[in-house]
Amino acid sequence: MNRVRVLLLNVALGPLDYRVPQGMQAAVPGSIVVAPLGPRQETGVVWDPERLETQEVGDNRLRPLLQVHDVPPLAEPLRRLIDWTSDYYLAPIGAVLRMSLPSSSALDGARTVTEYRATGRVPERLTPQRQQALDRIGERQGLVRELALAGDVSDGVIRGLVKSGAIEAVAVSIDDPFPRPDPDGHPPRLEGAQRAAAREFVTAVQDAEFAPFLLHGVTGSGKTEVYFEAVAEAIRMGRQTLVLLPEIALTEPFLKRFTTRFGCEPVAWHSGLRQSQRRRAWRAIATGDARVVVGARSALFLPYRDLGLIVVDEAHETSFKQEDGVQYHARDVAVMRGKLEKVPVILASATPAIETRHMAEIGVYKEMKLPDRFGVAEMPDIAAIDLIQDPPPRGRWLAPILVGELKANLERGEQSLLFLNRRGYAPLTLCRACGHRFQCPNCTAWMVEHRLVSRLACHHCGHMMPPPRACPECQEVDSLVPVGPGVERIADEVLALFPDARTAIVTSDTIWSPAKAAEFVGRMEAGAIDIVVGTQLVTKGYHFPNLTLVGVVDADLGLSGGDLRAAERSFQQISQVSGRAGRGEKPGRVFVQTHEPAAPVIAALVSGDAEGFYEAETEARRGAAMPPFGRLAGIIVSSEELGEATEAARLIGRTAPRVENMAVFGPAPAPLAMLRGRHRQRLLVHASRSLPVQDIIREWLSKLDWPRGVRVAVDVDPYSFL
Ligand code: ADP
Ligand code: ZN
Repeated sequence: MNRVRVLLLNVALGPLDYRVPQGMQAAVPGSIVVAPLGPRQETGVVWDPERLETQEVGDNRLRPLLQVHDVPPLAEPLRRLIDWTSDYYLAPIGAVLRMSLPSSSALDGARTVTEYRATGRVPERLTPQRQQALDRIGERQGLVRELALAGDVSDGVIRGLVKSGAIEAVAVSIDDPFPRPDPDGHPPRLEGAQRAAAREFVTAVQDAEFAPFLLHGVTGSGKTEVYFEAVAEAIRMGRQTLVLLPEIALTEPFLKRFTTRFGCEPVAWHSGLRQSQRRRAWRAIATGDARVVVGARSALFLPYRDLGLIVVDEAHETSFKQEDGVQYHARDVAVMRGKLEKVPVILASATPAIETRHMAEIGVYKEMKLPDRFGVAEMPDIAAIDLIQDPPPRGRWLAPILVGELKANLERGEQSLLFLNRRGYAPLTLCRACGHRFQCPNCTAWMVEHRLVSRLACHHCGHMMPPPRACPECQEVDSLVPVGPGVERIADEVLALFPDARTAIVTSDTIWSPAKAAEFVGRMEAGAIDIVVGTQLVTKGYHFPNLTLVGVVDADLGLSGGDLRAAERSFQQISQVSGRAGRGEKPGRVFVQTHEPAAPVIAALVSGDAEGFYEAETEARRGAAMPPFGRLAGIIVSSEELGEATEAARLIGRTAPRVENMAVFGPAPAPLAMLRGRHRQRLLVHASRSLPVQDIIREWLSKLDWPRGVRVAVDVDPYSFL
C-alpha cells in the first residue's frame, strides 16, 4: 500500500492522506500532485508525514491521487523553510506553500501558449469601447483576459477585435531557455575595501556553507559591484543566485547594471509579469535553467533547483515586511533559507537596521565595510533649514534658501531632487465654509486629493471619488480647499517659481511598471529633466551623476507617527535620499527642511554622526527591552460589526496567559480603527527574547472561539502598529 500525506493549496483544509495508484509515477516528498477532493481536483504537494498530523483514515478508504506533475519536486530545504515560516509567523502552512506555487499553469506540460497583440490595423467598426481598448493596450501582449484588464473592457470586446483583425494571436513558447549570464563579462577593477569584501564573498560561495554577511557601505561605495563578484562565482559554479530587491521599481536600474556586467538580463520575478512570463520563469527556476533571479519578496519561496547564493539589497527597507496574508519579513526569512540551503546570504545596506547591526555586533553576521564612495565622489554635505527662522511664504513649502539653491543649480545645468513622502496633491481636503473634512467611508483616513487624475482617493482601501463641486455637508459651492502638500503640489510650486524648468513627479502613481521606470531613467540620463519631485520611490537604487542637489521638503513627517522605529526610519530615509546627490564627479549638497533642527535625527544627519545616533537608539531599545533585545507580537482583531470585534478582542485580552517576562497590552481600538469597512482592535504582546512567544500565543488562541465574521491575525515581529 503506497500511502502519501498531501498538503493542499486550499488554505481551509489540513493535510490529507491519499493512495498512489499502481502504475503512477512515484510520489516522493515534495512531488506536486493533483488530488481529488469531493467532486473537485486540487493541487497539492506530498509532505513528510512525520511533520504534519492528520486524522487517521483506513487504507481501504483512501482515494487515489490523480496525477503527479512532471516538474521537479520541492526540495527538502524548501519544505523545511515552509514549515518554519508557518510555525514562526503563525500562518496556515497552505498559505505559505502557495507562495512557492504561484503559477498553477506552470505545472502543465504545454510548451506553447497563445497570446494576443495589436496589429496596428484599424477595425472597420470602431466603437468607443474598441477605441479605448486599443489605446490602452498599446504595445502590450498577453492573454485575452490580460488585454481586457489592460483595456478596461470585457473579454468579448477583445475577441471582437481579434475577429476584425485589429488584434492577432501569437504562439509563445514557455520553455525557451534564458540566456546565460557571462561571469567574466565586464568585471570592474575593485579598490582596497571593495576587493577585500569581494574576496570574502567569493570564498563563501565556493565553500557552499551557510554564512550570513552584512555588507555595510555608504551610498555609492560600490556595494552592487562587490556582491556582483559573488554572483559571478555562483554562475561559474553553475549554481543559482537570488537577489531580492525591496520593490519592483528598482528592478529596472538593476537589470541594466546586471546586463552591463554580465552581458544579458537576469530572470525577473515580480507582480507585473504576464502569465506566460511567470510560467516560463517558474519552470526555469525549478529546473535550474534560471541562473540569476532578481525579484521582490515573493521570489523568496520559489523552488530553486540549486541555490548557491542569496543577496538582499537595501536590506533595511521595511517593504520587505509583508503586511497582508502571511505576515513575514523577507530579510529574516532569506537568512533562514540560507541556513537551510547551506549557502551564504549577503544583506547589503548603507543604513542597516538596528536588528541587523546587532546581529553583526554579537558576531552572528560577519560585517564587511565600505567606508568611502567609489572614485572621486565624496559624500554630500547635509545642512538643515530651520523653517521657523526661514519660513516659506504663506501657502508655499519651499524655504527661500532652498529656492535659491534650486535656482543656482538650474543655472549650472545640474539636476535637483525634492523629496516628500506623500503622494498626490494634498493629504486633506476641507470645506472653507463649514470645516467639513473628507474622510474615507471605509477607513479611518482622510481622502487624498490627486489633482493629475482629478480624484480624491483613500490610500488604504483604494476608494475613489471625483472631487465634488459643492460641500456634501453645507452645500456651499467651490468651497473646498486643499490642506498641506503632496508631491503634486510641490511640483506646482516649482513650476510657479521656475516656469522653464522641466520637472518630473516620481511616485507609485507615475512609475507603476518597470517600463515606466526605464522611461524615467532614460529621461534623467538624457538630461531631459531638471527637477524631480518624488516619494520614497526615488530615494534608493538610482545613480544619476548630474544630480547634485537634494531638498527634503519635510524632515519631520516621518517622526510624527512616533512608533518604535520612527527615528530610525527617518534617519535611513533621509540618508538614502541624500545618497542620490553627488554620485559623480560634481559634489552634492543636501538641504533638510525641519521645524526642529535640534532633534537627534536631524543633528546626526547634519554632523554625519551616524554611529552616535545608532548607539543612542540602540541603548534606548535595550533599556526598554524592545526588539532586538525583546520580542513583540501584535494581535489584530477585526470585524464588520463593531460589537463583535470589541467582544472578541476583550475575550482574548481576558484570557491572556500569565507568563513571567511577558506582558499583554490592550485591547484598544487600533489607530486605523476602521480599515476596508472592518473595525479593528489591537493587542500587543511584549516578551523577553528567551520566551517561545509563538507557542504561547498558539496555545492561548487555539482555546478560544469567536463568531465567523471575526478575523484574528497575529503579526510576529511587527513593523506597523496602525
Ligand atoms: P552602492 O550600491 O554602494 O550605492 P554602486 O555599486 O551603485 O554603489 O556604485 C556606485 C557607482 O560607482 C556605480 O556607477 C558603480 O558602477 C561605480 N563603481 C563602484 N565601484 C567601482 C569600481 N571598482 N570600478 C568602476 N566603477 C565602480
Ligand atoms: Zn479607505
